Amino acid sequence: MRLVLASNNAKKLAELRTLFGGLPLEVVAQGDLGIAEADEPHATFVENALAKARHAARLGGAAAIADDSGLCVDALGGAPGVASAHYAEVALPALDREERRRVQDAANNRRLLDALQGAADRRARFVSTLVALRHADDPQPLIVSGRWEGFVLDAPRGEGGFGYDPLLWIDELGCSVAELDAATKNRISHRAQAARAMRALLREAWRLG
Ligand code: IMP
Repeated sequence: MRLVLASNNAKKLAELRTLFGGLPLEVVAQGDLGIAEADEPHATFVENALAKARHAARLGGAAAIADDSGLCVDALGGAPGVASAHYAEVALPALDREERRRVQDAANNRRLLDALQGAADRRARFVSTLVALRHADDPQPLIVSGRWEGFVLDAPRGEGGFGYDPLLWIDELGCSVAELDAATKNRISHRAQAARAMRALLREAWRLG
């Protein structure tokens, strides 16, 4: 059985490939099938993840799994939330996809620091919602979420990961997410928690693994 990963974000895909490794499935990234990003017009992670999974399942003619994720900051009423990927407006010239993402991530981090300048309450969390569909019209989507609590730093720390990783401080670990190695992030992150729950559901509902 083929499972299409509904993302074109290379760093996120690397995490998803690790988190869904070892299943009796042929795991394929949607970009390798020529499938472009889906629109994400909705106000919640679950609606956007469902839209992405449906898009990938329809165009890939296979089962699909999508992650919609972001950083939710209490002092900003949950923003950037579903808008995390494009929080800052940036003019992106003719750069390749990964370079564009790096420039966008840095601008997003700057905008977040500006928005929180002087804020005492810096509580925030990464949220990942995963949706799996057997096919585009599957009436029984598998849906799970993971949350990872932290605090927004007042300057970036660390070089690893992607997105807002340099700005989220994890108190229990005494470091930012970008200071963790990939294996540790993949054991405890919002996406890791969601993937563990999804793997249990895949075993139960799809008799996989
Ligand atoms: P999506 O691809 O539309 O789900 O957007 C996800 C965005 O949320 C990314 O582009 C990042 O800005 C942010 N994000 C999600 N997960 C992570 C993470 O694990 N680390 C850092 N930022 C993340």
